[in-house]
Amino acid sequence: MLYITDTAPALPFTGMQVSATDIRFACPPHASRTVASLPLISPGMSTDISGDRFNRLYNDGMKTVYTLVHSPEHTYPGHPEEPNRFSKLQALLDRLSGIERLESGPASREEIAAVHSAQMIAGLEEACKRGPGIIDYAPTYVTQTSYDDALNAAGGTLAITRAVLKGEAQNGFAIVRPPGHHAEPERAMGFCLFNNLAIAARDALANGVERLLVVDYDAHHGNGTQAAFWQDERLAYFSTHQEYIYPGTGRLEEAPHARGRITNFPLPAHAGDRAFAAIAEQAIKPLVETFRPQMMLVSAGFDAHWKDPITTLGLSTAGFHALSRRLVELAEEHCQGKIVFALEGGYDPQNVANGAAAVFAALTGTEPPNEDDLPRFSEPDIGQRLEAFRRWHGL
Ligand SMILES: [Zn+2]
Repeated sequence: MLYITDTAPALPFTGMQVSATDIRFACPPHASRTVASLPLISPGMSTDISGDRFNRLYNDGMKTVYTLVHSPEHTYPGHPEEPNRFSKLQALLDRLSGIERLESGPASREEIAAVHSAQMIAGLEEACKRGPGIIDYAPTYVTQTSYDDALNAAGGTLAITRAVLKGEAQNGFAIVRPPGHHAEPERAMGFCLFNNLAIAARDALANGVERLLVVDYDAHHGNGTQAAFWQDERLAYFSTHQEYIYPGTGRLEEAPHARGRITNFPLPAHAGDRAFAAIAEQAIKPLVETFRPQMMLVSAGFDAHWKDPITTLGLSTAGFHALSRRLVELAEEHCQGKIVFALEGGYDPQNVANGAAAVFAALTGTEPPNEDDLPRFSEPDIGQRLEAFRRWHGL
């Protein structure tokens, strides 16, 4: 059964409890289990996700592919994880050249089951059938379409990952919702239903990839991805996230059994472009050189932008580009260029579009977007944290 509760479940690995008031989401937890009706959403963009789910490419020779899974009916009144997050994307996608959309369909139950338990999948399906409601304290919501939407988000991420793995595309970006990185093997949580990127990672590991690196630069810790690969030595996990916010996990010393593999870098508020540039060179690069991944997957969360409404990190669009470009370069040096980005959070529509433009520029090696959106605050120094990180992980 999926829980419908407004009490806080225990956090994984820590035994801590976090109360709803500890969580820095802009919207208050909803008290009611259901709502009488949902507003009609006018998405203003294509939601075409039908067609051949086996990575049909529109033409040969393309290098960067993307999927777009908008899920316009996965919505809840007042909730920040809403279809409007994508409202500025279509204009961007129409403008960009050198990228090609890949059609995708839903992931199969078997593909989902590579990460999530049969009980969790059945529970989520049942909760969605019952109609709109809140399923945890984040709050995470479901609607009657959410189960199919979550299958499509996972399918969109799988399609890109497979195309890159097979060499049909050089790299790609799965622009999907609902997001995934908080979803654990046994539970949906944190606005996430199925863990899209973890499902794609399992698929890659089952199809020839021996070592895979996940980099998660969403402002929140990807507890679900970490949980899915807690004991899987084929996957290394690196996460930057703002400390002391939802979900409360992601401490430096959280995984003593997996030093040099499960690698968490909690950040103080306002850590931004300078901090991330140092992290790319002094934390991610040595991790890549030590772990020697054959492919990289990136949980791209644009809520690390300084203007995000629910977090207080400090990246600008230029910072997202610099970080993403460095990841692409590392993949080109060590992984034959095999890198896939998957959208996680980001709750300001303009930031989502600018962040996506930055990722596409990084993937295609073209000029980054010229957004004048540097923050006006100064950054904290993270030198000691970098030293502690390298010492703990032997990097
Ligand atoms: Zn996030």
